[in-house]
Amino acid sequence: MKICWFNNDLLGVVEQDRVYDVSVALQALPAPSYPNRSGDLVMAHLDLLRDAIQQALPTAESYAVDSVQFLSPVANPGKIIGVPVNYQKHVEEAAADLATFTQRETGSVLEQGFFLKAASSLIGCSQTINISMPERLTHHEIELGLVIGKTAKNVTEEEAFSYVAGYAIALDMTVRGAEDRSLRKSLDTYSVLGPWLVTADEIANPQQLDLRLQVNGQDRQVANTAEMIVYIAEQIAWASKFYTLEPGDIIMTGTCEGVGPVVAGDVIRAEIEAIGTMEVRVLNEV
Ligand code: MN
Repeated sequence: MKICWFNNDLLGVVEQDRVYDVSVALQALPAPSYPNRSGDLVMAHLDLLRDAIQQALPTAESYAVDSVQFLSPVANPGKIIGVPVNYQKHVEEAAADLATFTQRETGSVLEQGFFLKAASSLIGCSQTINISMPERLTHHEIELGLVIGKTAKNVTEEEAFSYVAGYAIALDMTVRGAEDRSLRKSLDTYSVLGPWLVTADEIANPQQLDLRLQVNGQDRQVANTAEMIVYIAEQIAWASKFYTLEPGDIIMTGTCEGVGPVVAGDVIRAEIEAIGTMEVRVLNEV
């Protein structure tokens, strides 16, 4: 199932080229109460919601996919976990250009571990990436985005996939420079997730997916998730040693070679096999 949030916070399901408004299914969720310690309510209760969505679909109003505004498919992530330098050719391109990447980004994920991006940086693909510091270099990074569906702590690689709700295309937008990653990758609009969440049951092998990112129609990043240094199951297990993973938490699983600059006016087209394609516009913040 492809699940999205669209327009004015409507819950949608995407089938072929239509988006069905299944917002009525939200009534199946337990009433939100304060304090909410269960993470993102939709991701925490996806099974419950799927049944309600199936019931709602036959009478749901639908819209053409290209006529709606896609928001982030996760409304309330507690945290966004980043996996740095997780493709060997990206390790090499970073090491070869210390003027751009700085010493801080050399070496692979095995030396560097994880980092966190602010949840407030997250947008959907129909929103625009707003560059607030045009005098600095902003780079695109396409990544397979993974969303946690069940609370996970100290889980093993073997059981890791049972904690995944689904997958989406992620952009880990980055200001290059000397500051900590948690600053340079957490600017408003610098985390993009979309266009929708494909539930885990629909992706047979997330470790074997083609990725492609174009800027203004030109290829920049082309790779396959098979080229990761630390595989997805290992990422989940490893991350769960440090952080309790909660429903709605997002792991951006690392980017491949070919990262490069974007400026106002650019259009990023990002595609991941078995998920789909999204286009995101870049503007200067006004
Ligand atoms: Mn990244």
